[in-house]
Amino acid sequence: MTLPQYDWIAHHAQFTPHAVAQVDLHSGRSYTYDAMHQRVDRLAAWLVNELGVEPGDRISVLAHNTTDIYEIFFAGMRAGVMVLPLNWRLAVPELEFILNDADTRLLIHGADFAEPARELAARCGIPRLLEMRDGAPSDYEHIMDAARASYTPAARVLEDVWVLMYTSGTTGRPKGAQLTYQNHLFNNINCTMKAELTRQSHALVYLPQFHVGGLCVYAFPCFHLGATVSVMRQFDAGECLRLLTDRASGITHTFGVPTNFLFMAQLPAFAEADFAHLTSIGIGGAAAPLSLLETYAEKNLLLQQGWGMTETCTMGTLLDKPDALRKIGSSGRKVLHNELRICDEHDQPLPAGETGELQIRGPQVTPGYWRRPEANAASFVDGWLKTGDAAYVDDEGFFYIVDRRKDMYISGGENVYPAEIENALYGLAGVAECAVIGVPDETWGAVGRAFIQLEPGASLTEKAVIDHCYANLARYKVPRSVRFMDELPHNATGKLLKHELPRD
Ligand code: ADP
Repeated sequence: MTLPQYDWIAHHAQFTPHAVAQVDLHSGRSYTYDAMHQRVDRLAAWLVNELGVEPGDRISVLAHNTTDIYEIFFAGMRAGVMVLPLNWRLAVPELEFILNDADTRLLIHGADFAEPARELAARCGIPRLLEMRDGAPSDYEHIMDAARASYTPAARVLEDVWVLMYTSGTTGRPKGAQLTYQNHLFNNINCTMKAELTRQSHALVYLPQFHVGGLCVYAFPCFHLGATVSVMRQFDAGECLRLLTDRASGITHTFGVPTNFLFMAQLPAFAEADFAHLTSIGIGGAAAPLSLLETYAEKNLLLQQGWGMTETCTMGTLLDKPDALRKIGSSGRKVLHNELRICDEHDQPLPAGETGELQIRGPQVTPGYWRRPEANAASFVDGWLKTGDAAYVDDEGFFYIVDRRKDMYISGGENVYPAEIENALYGLAGVAECAVIGVPDETWGAVGRAFIQLEPGASLTEKAVIDHCYANLARYKVPRSVRFMDELPHNATGKLLKHELPRD
């Protein structure tokens, strides 16, 4: 299906030009739909007329969160190019791998990344760099100041790729998930329905824009609707809690990973926090400890857990608010137009209640990884994406994510899912954050090792931790050793990096 009228920003600039589209909290800039439309237009004209991009070309961006990045995506839509947002936490050789893999025409970068950008351009043969400076005079703003130039927006079909998103790399070497206009359209529809977004909504974004979290929940759905998006440069727990609790900020929605909510709950201001005015607050991207969901429920904030992946353009399930207490711990029911199932190791569907691999198919699922035929062959079966997540569904259709299958280890012949042990550890006073991994053991094959970051002022012994586990878990699940750490390793999205935890 061709898309002559797909441009969301142009649409809202025509009908609600004065509505605020985006707010850049770091620089204090704010743009109406009309202003955003004009900026997107200048950049698209530059891409087509000056850079000479062709539909299907790739352009990349390396910067901390900024409203400019949203403009780049919509300019990419008009010029017909794929936009590749880069993880700024990665080292130059890692970025070099991705940029060579994607073969990009342009690298747009924040002023803080001028040095690596120059190095990457040289190493990867990228013909053009463009610097942004948070609205201050720069190559980027020079384009914005130009007079309107005419260009022909690219003709697009729903199946064309808009976003090339390299998976965040908590596992293996990054692969470019291709996300099409169709993937985004259906994610927009589902987020709107599940999170009750309207044109009056105002989403706060702090997850990185190089991850689907910073784009798809809920920035793009808001732009699709004509609502408002405020973007933080990086997650700051204190500022985030302030914005969520201060009615005057106007924020109605946000979506975070469990670490975001853990850190906010540990602030002294949390005790007085009032969230009553918020419409929908989503949590996902990693297993949310039950005690965390309960802590927020006690403050009358029912966190709506959802499951999704880069490859599903985020939302595959979300727990509806009325079910949030009754089904606490569940990631909710499937979104519209997509199918989910639980399968055994032969990809045969399992009945309700049995744990197996979660698989999904439908219009939100990526058509595949960029130039990776082998990964594509391994990841799909009859159109179903094999997610690698272990889950079960109850007889009312509520999904429970047990863990990543690759984080599971086998101890004395029994499957152990670390998320279950972590859940038990979070029930122990003094635990700020924890992670469990399986380490080799001569007798049992593997045994659990727990890593714990304590709350400030708290003290716990290894014995106290292990005794707590014996009291709450089957013996084979009890970790054999405990290591206390000042801080656990996270990726830029805030997810725990288990492969960086010491195994020896
Ligand atoms: P990465 O695998 O690098 O973290 P993604 O950011 O795409 O890449 O993350 C998707 C993964 O996050 C899922 O496959 C799943 O393992 C995990 N995840 C997402 N939502 C949930 C949830 N509600 N509960 C547990 N795990 C989740």
